[in-house]
Amino acid sequence: MITDADAWRSRDLAVLWHPCTQMREHPDVLPLVPIERGDGAWLIGRDGRRYLDAVSSWWTNLFGHAEPRIAAAIAGQARTLEHVLLAGFSHQPAVELAEKLLAIAPRQCDRAPLTKVFYADNGSAGVEVALKMAFHWFRNRGEDHRTRFVALENGYHGETLGAMAVGDIPLYRRTYAPLLAEVLFAPSPDAYLAAPGQSPAQRALQAADELATIFDRHPGEVCAVILEPLVQCAGGMRMHHPEYLKRVRQLCDAHGVFLIADEIAVGFGRTGTFFACEQAGIAPDLLCLSKGLTGGFLPLAAVLTTQELYDGFLDDSRERAFLHSHSYTGNPLACAAALATLRIFDEDDVLARNKVTAARMAQLAAPLAQHPHVADVRQTGMIVAFELMRDGDKHTPFDPALRVGLRAYRAALERGVVLRPLGDVLYWMPPYCIDEEQLALLADVTRTAIDEATCA
Ligand SMILES: *Cc1c(COP(=O)(O)O)cnc(C)c1O
Repeated sequence: MITDADAWRSRDLAVLWHPCTQMREHPDVLPLVPIERGDGAWLIGRDGRRYLDAVSSWWTNLFGHAEPRIAAAIAGQARTLEHVLLAGFSHQPAVELAEKLLAIAPRQCDRAPLTKVFYADNGSAGVEVALKMAFHWFRNRGEDHRTRFVALENGYHGETLGAMAVGDIPLYRRTYAPLLAEVLFAPSPDAYLAAPGQSPAQRALQAADELATIFDRHPGEVCAVILEPLVQCAGGMRMHHPEYLKRVRQLCDAHGVFLIADEIAVGFGRTGTFFACEQAGIAPDLLCLSKGLTGGFLPLAAVLTTQELYDGFLDDSRERAFLHSHSYTGNPLACAAALATLRIFDEDDVLARNKVTAARMAQLAAPLAQHPHVADVRQTGMIVAFELMRDGDKHTPFDPALRVGLRAYRAALERGVVLRPLGDVLYWMPPYCIDEEQLALLADVTRTAIDEATCA
């Protein structure tokens, strides 16, 4: 008998090309899961099965699926003004959202605050905006030699050509390398890479020293450093000590270079503080936001920047203006969703609740550290990651051909939990509404999935 879910699967595969997927693996290696609706932390399949969304649908969802307050804000906005071009025109949600974002942006004493917001449509587009702004600012000053970006090894900033150029994950980048700008890569401060006996803080300082030598070797060539503060998410949830960010801030200032903080994945409470930069007490020159910005409802990105950077584009010439534009820049529906998202942070005291949830996640994750194939369990706020290795030591990975991560994915999916590993790194990055019972299920299924994926 062909079920309703089967029918949707075949209609889908007849016409759709899915992201981040070797389509040949459908349907035999990878099951395709048609979803009918969402309810809090649950996704509900067309076959009536429930799946716990432990990865917040690619890190976008904050308060659960179909959150009624955000849904209502979008519906209300749609009946009032669905869209208007943002060149020459203005609207309430775009202005209010910019005001609110600037009011909560990271601050650093003795440093001018972030005062301007530029909107784009998704994370990658936001990164493009930040890169182009930094580059263009120096051009406008006649410093044409400042053409290079410094990015971190194992970093990720999106899929468009500029964003991919500053990313360092071979699987996504290698094929397109001939198309990409040449970027200077600095060693990652990743605490997992610490030498035996080296603390995460020492590792951070070492990586900062290595960044300093890059500046010394390329005097006057660099326009900006781009990084993901505290957690390199797509790079396998690799985490670093906040001291690194302090040092990078100092180095950027010493060399007159912009610091771009890509908080697309780590912003909006993911790391424990509202923004990750707060844990280092630093403010960037450009802050990229997306993903959780709309609570996971609509694509939107915001790039926050300083008055100094903004003023560098004021001129009689149009060419000196920042002409970057997307048709849907500052879309009112997306801005309304983002405003509702920010209201929920206040109404529900989300950061305080997350502290409790994160502590519970730590308790539930701790026993898994004893597993013979778990080489590392690490956590920053609402992100917990499990590094699966052939031996519990940090250095003997599984043969990639075994596809241990994929096996764990399937084992968890069969048990109603969405864990979508990054290679052989399993992680929890759940919607903030996840409750005790759901957390217990998550921990239980994670253990079973690791057992099943790693047994010979
Ligand atoms: C997801 C992500 C991006 C890209 O965002 P998209 O909306 O997927 O284009 C950029 N930077 C980081 C850190 C991300 O995690």
